[in-house]
Amino acid sequence: MLRYILYGLYASILVHINQWRSYESLRKRAEKKVIRQIHLAYKNVPYYKKKYDEAGVSMKDIKTLADLKKLPFITKDEIRENFPDGILALGTDIKHCHYSATTGSTGRSLPFVFSHNTHIFYNTTNFRVYTMFGYRPWHKSVYVKYTNSNVRSLGPLFRTGHVKSIITVQEQIEAIKKEKPDMLVGYASLILEIARTVTPEDLKIIRPKFISVNSELSTRDQRDYIASVFKCPVYDEYSTEETWMIASQCKEHNYHLFIDNVWVEFLNEKGEEVKPGEVGEIVLTTMMSPVMPFIRYRIGDLGRPSNKKCACGRGFPLLEAFDGRRDDSFILPSGRFVSSLKILNTFTMYIKKYLHLMEEFKVIQTDPGLVIIKLVKGKEYREDRFQELIDQLNRIFGEPVTIKVEMVDSIPSTGAVKRKAIESLVNKRDIPDLARLN
Ligand SMILES: [Zn+2]
Repeated sequence: MLRYILYGLYASILVHINQWRSYESLRKRAEKKVIRQIHLAYKNVPYYKKKYDEAGVSMKDIKTLADLKKLPFITKDEIRENFPDGILALGTDIKHCHYSATTGSTGRSLPFVFSHNTHIFYNTTNFRVYTMFGYRPWHKSVYVKYTNSNVRSLGPLFRTGHVKSIITVQEQIEAIKKEKPDMLVGYASLILEIARTVTPEDLKIIRPKFISVNSELSTRDQRDYIASVFKCPVYDEYSTEETWMIASQCKEHNYHLFIDNVWVEFLNEKGEEVKPGEVGEIVLTTMMSPVMPFIRYRIGDLGRPSNKKCACGRGFPLLEAFDGRRDDSFILPSGRFVSSLKILNTFTMYIKKYLHLMEEFKVIQTDPGLVIIKLVKGKEYREDRFQELIDQLNRIFGEPVTIKVEMVDSIPSTGAVKRKAIESLVNKRDIPDLARLN
C-alpha cells in the first residue's frame, strides 16, 4: 500500500513538471518511451509479435518515432478477438490488475487491463487536467457519472461527490445542490441537459468555479451555453477509458496533447501525417501501460493538429480541433475528410440566423460526389436563404460535390439507435482500410 502511495506522489509531481518541459524535450522523452514500449510488446505480447512478424517488420528498424509508420495499425476488433491471452503481456495476472471494459459509441464492449501503477499514473494525469484550469486540492469536485468515483478524500483535501448519471435530471440537480461543487465534471450531454433544466433558484446554490466536460465530442456552442448558464468557464477534455487522457483544454481554451502518456498521430487516408490545420484520423500509441499496450491504435476519431504555441507556456503540442467520428465524416472525391461536426455547425449557424427556416433535416452522403439533404421546411422557409446554406456547404467541400435537396414531411427515426443528423454511407464501403494500405 505504502508503495502505491509513494508512487502516486512521485507520478503526480512528475506529470506536473512534465507540462512545463519544452516540446523538444517532451518529444525526445516520448520517443524513448514509445520505442521501448514497442520492443517490449514485441517480446512480451503474443499478438504484436505475430502481427509484426507477419508484416515483415524487424525490430532493428524501429528506432525513432518516424519508424512508427512501418508498423501496422491495431483496431478495437483485433483487441477484442485476442483478449486476454494474445493481447496481454505474458505472465499478467488479471486478478492483480485493474480490469474493466468500455462500451464506446459503437455499443460493443472492449475489455482492458492496467497494472496498478499504470492506473495510479493515469489518475495523476486526471489531477493535472484539473489543476491546469485552476482546481486545487481544497476544492470540492463532483462527478456526474455512471460509476462511483474512486477518489478518496484526505480530510479537507480532495473532497469528492458523485451524482449518478442514470437518474432523472431533476434528481441530479437536487443531488448537485446537496454536494455544492467547486468543480463539476461529467459527460457533455449530461451537463448540457442539467444546464437546460436548472432554474435561477437552483443556481443560487449550484455555483461551480469551473466545469470539465469529457468523454464525448461536444460543440463549442454547447460548451458556451453551459458556461453562460453556470457563469463559469467550461473546459473540454478528450480521453478514452482504455488509453486514458489524450488532451485537455488549458485556461486559454487550447487543447494540449499529453504526449507523456500517449503518442498521437494524425493521418490521411494514405496513412501519411497530415499538415497542421488539416483533418486526420487520430491514431494512438500508449507508453505507460506495458501490461496491455495500444500501439498504433485506431480509435476512429478525427482531429486537426496545430503547430501553434500556447500563451500558457506548456510544452505539450496543441490540437486545433476535434472533428467527430471518422465513420460519420464525409470523404470527398479527392479523398479529403470533412467532419460531420463542421456540417452540423453549418446547419446550426443558419438555424440561428433564420429562425423557422427549417423544422428538421438530415444530411446523407450516398456517394463521394453526392450529398442529399432531406428537409422538413420551417414555417418561414425561403429558397434563397436555404441556398445561402448550400453555398456555404459548397465552400466547405471546396471541390465538385452535387448537393440535392429533397423536401419531406418528416424524418423517420430508426428506432433504438440515436438518430444521426449527418451520416455518410460512403466510408464504410468505399474507403480503403488504412491498415491494408500500410
Ligand atoms: Zn495552454
